[in-house]
Amino acid sequence: MKQVTTTDGTSVTFITKTRVVTGPREVFFSPDKSLAVVLYRQPLETSVRDFLIKLTTKYRDLVLNQDDGGDYFKDFFCWPQHVFDYEGGRLGLVFPFFKPRFIFGEDTNLAGGAKTATWFISAKNFNLFVPNKDRGNLLGYLRAGLHLCQALRRLHKAGLIHSDLSGRNCLVDPVGGEVCLINIDYLIGSELSAQSSGLGTFTPDFAAPEIISSCFSADNFDRRGLNQASNYHSLAVLIYGLLLHRHPLRGSKIHSADLSENEAMLLGSKALFIENPDNNSNRLLFSADDKDNMPWFDTATISVSVLGPHLKSLFAYAFIDGLKDPKLRPTADEWEKALVKTVDLLQPCGNPKCSMKWYVFQKPPKSVCPYCGEKFQGKMLVLDFYSTVDEKKYTSDNHQLVVSNNKYIYPWHADASIFPNEFLDSQKRKPVGYFSYDQKKGWYFVNQTLESMEKVFESNQKEKVGPGEAIKIFDEQKLILKTGPSGRLVQVRTVSF
Ligand SMILES: [Zn+2]
Repeated sequence: MKQVTTTDGTSVTFITKTRVVTGPREVFFSPDKSLAVVLYRQPLETSVRDFLIKLTTKYRDLVLNQDDGGDYFKDFFCWPQHVFDYEGGRLGLVFPFFKPRFIFGEDTNLAGGAKTATWFISAKNFNLFVPNKDRGNLLGYLRAGLHLCQALRRLHKAGLIHSDLSGRNCLVDPVGGEVCLINIDYLIGSELSAQSSGLGTFTPDFAAPEIISSCFSADNFDRRGLNQASNYHSLAVLIYGLLLHRHPLRGSKIHSADLSENEAMLLGSKALFIENPDNNSNRLLFSADDKDNMPWFDTATISVSVLGPHLKSLFAYAFIDGLKDPKLRPTADEWEKALVKTVDLLQPCGNPKCSMKWYVFQKPPKSVCPYCGEKFQGKMLVLDFYSTVDEKKYTSDNHQLVVSNNKYIYPWHADASIFPNEFLDSQKRKPVGYFSYDQKKGWYFVNQTLESMEKVFESNQKEKVGPGEAIKIFDEQKLILKTGPSGRLVQVRTVSF
């Protein structure tokens, strides 16, 4: 047992008997396992040392303690809390330990292990190791992706870049739709970005092609090429992996007989999207009875298209145009918008045993769950969203919502100026209404708290629908969810399969 006093006067005790060595660090734990104490094995370069100290002060404040939603991000990062000087000129950082939701349960074969994204983004890891109860469903992965985008956006806003945004530095709980970025000492700030120093390791699978081309080994990892755009490549690989449990560039194409050269080409200079519509030379090869990788290797059945138009279009930018031109990569903000719109396109799968529980609405004539093959036949209601500036003219928001029983709508559905992110207070995160289905009478919308909701008749006459009122909804009906600037109108559309 060892006791140290941090620079802010906090006394921290850790057990010296067990330690984990990761790269340049030794990691110890406090007796109650609430803290992880990281000790750097060698004295650090002054610039790196100064930066780490700033991480626990200036940057911690910028990311977590500001009025602009700092609280929202408290659980999005495992941020170092304290710093201390240790024997031999070494530096120590004190981190909070991972939240229980990010640790595999004792009754699983991964008992006590951290739920790093690496378990979820590879078909083999996912199929063979992740216990069923920890697998979550499609809604959970979309939410986890959204939170990951928000975490990265927040880091960039504070002037920080991640030097290794990869599966092992991101914890995922797909059941709750939560993520947590760990190893925060791998970040770099403007203090370090002009030089090659820093602590992060190099994970080729997530590094942007231009970084791979400049350095393909941990030994010559040059951090000078890292920037927001290189992070956006890593982000896209993580989102793709979370939603489809495979890597977007690791297909069947072989570029060189030399293994290391082949790796450098397939992830760097010759990177080719496994689902590139104009070049099928890197498609994944699979056999239907390959239980380790199926169904995720079947890119014809579970193609990126099954994630709907918003995500499909961003993946094309990320893995076709954006591989060569970093400026074309979707930003974290663009991913957030696409993920939120995609959640609204989810329809429940009719097969109670379906692993993903939901799938993204498909256009007629066929509606088939890509994950289990369950067919949907019948009618479905879809809402098309429009918004206004002057309350006279409504323009399409390219945003649809698939109606299902007990589906809620939120303030951001009623008002185009609201978006579900850190700027919303708790009141604005609550539902404002929901849909309900009655076997005999059909579909209803129950207005819970929308103060200015109106029904619009064909004659363009309007009738108020007060909070607490339920109204029947039908094909082509128009509803104004909120009057005033940025208020939204929805039109109901029946889709038949
Ligand atoms: Zn299904």
